Amino acid sequence: MATAIGANVVVSLRYTLTANGDKVEDGTIDYLHGHGNIVPGLEAGLEGAAVNEERVVEVPADLAYGERMEEAIQQVPRNMFPADMEIAPGMRFMAATPDGHRMPVYVLHVDTDIVVVDANHPLAGVALTFDVKVVSLRDATSEEIAHGHPHGADGHDHSHGH
Ligand code: ZN
Repeated sequence: MATAIGANVVVSLRYTLTANGDKVEDGTIDYLHGHGNIVPGLEAGLEGAAVNEERVVEVPADLAYGERMEEAIQQVPRNMFPADMEIAPGMRFMAATPDGHRMPVYVLHVDTDIVVVDANHPLAGVALTFDVKVVSLRDATSEEIAHGHPHGADGHDHSHGH
């Protein structure tokens, strides 16, 4: 029975995420500790926390979503998009990389002939503050450890596709 956060413990957390003093989001997450399910700085900052413990974890950008990369900003000809597609700054869509992966990109700017898109994560280059409260802890099953992530409460949730 897990009593503190450590490797192979399934953690249920309530959290509020703020960046530059503004609230970004809040919610509850379940993750498997020690498997990179959450940003590295938060995972390290939660080590050893007990049920009901509250912590404020400050995470620098390089231990969160990484630094912004200028080369991730690209100009794409407008005619690469369907002519009838509305394109506006802030839109997110999936783009194919040369090696066939799909990744989210964000529209920064739209001109007549050019769309400027940004493949940086919206929180890249940003220091994050997580206000967390540990809701519950349990030992992971061997299947969860093998998969590297928690499964549903009934232990039979394979809706994630494997
Ligand atoms: Zn799985």
